[in-house]
Amino acid sequence: MKDTLKYLIDLQEIDRQLFEIEEKKGSLPQQVEKLESEAVDLRSELDTTKAALEENRKELNTIHGGLMDAVEKIKKYQDQLYLVNTNREYDALTNEIETEKSKMMEMESRQTELQEAIETLETAINSSEEQTTAFAEQLEANRDELKEKSDLTDARQLELEKEREALVPKVRERYLRKYNRILKARRRAVVPIERSACSGCHKQLSPQTIYDIQQMNKLIECENCGRILIRMEKED
Ligand SMILES: [Zn+2]
Repeated sequence: MKDTLKYLIDLQEIDRQLFEIEEKKGSLPQQVEKLESEAVDLRSELDTTKAALEENRKELNTIHGGLMDAVEKIKKYQDQLYLVNTNREYDALTNEIETEKSKMMEMESRQTELQEAIETLETAINSSEEQTTAFAEQLEANRDELKEKSDLTDARQLELEKEREALVPKVRERYLRKYNRILKARRRAVVPIERSACSGCHKQLSPQTIYDIQQMNKLIECENCGRILIRMEKED
């Protein structure tokens, strides 16, 4: 029975490591996926900012054209002022000049707004481009690292599976069935006693049970959770 218990302890250690590997493997692709989706978000944010910059630049160009037109018109009206004969003509031209001047003021104020917006967008694009580049580099490095980790993990998993295969035939069928059943239900089938209790469910154990466990002469299950109880590892 001592041997059986020792094999079960070894088996439990192998299965514990296999569980850990399964968990790690499960999260690896998710980590890469998360980084990739963050990279896509950054890229699309940058594209939106660039499109806004382009719009503002176009409008600024239109305003430049409008201002130049207004200057031309004012000059033309002012030249015509010397040629008018009637007060009515004079007033009409003066009105036109005032209208153009007030249009110019509006355009100049919009021009200032646009210049400020363009400056802000350019700064945002610069920092966003830096961020995107840094992120792409980080993603690349992480992909390599994850690939390396995953290869290592695969190798370790194979090793553990071989160890398990070698160990399983040494355990008697009925104990193995029991072990596998508890493992499936409880994740850990073999647990040490800790402070006079089952370390799986913390149920207190009687001194007689603890004594029996320490003898390692029979397979003792926790009466509460059903796990196979063993003495503390350090007491081996
Ligand atoms: Zn228990």
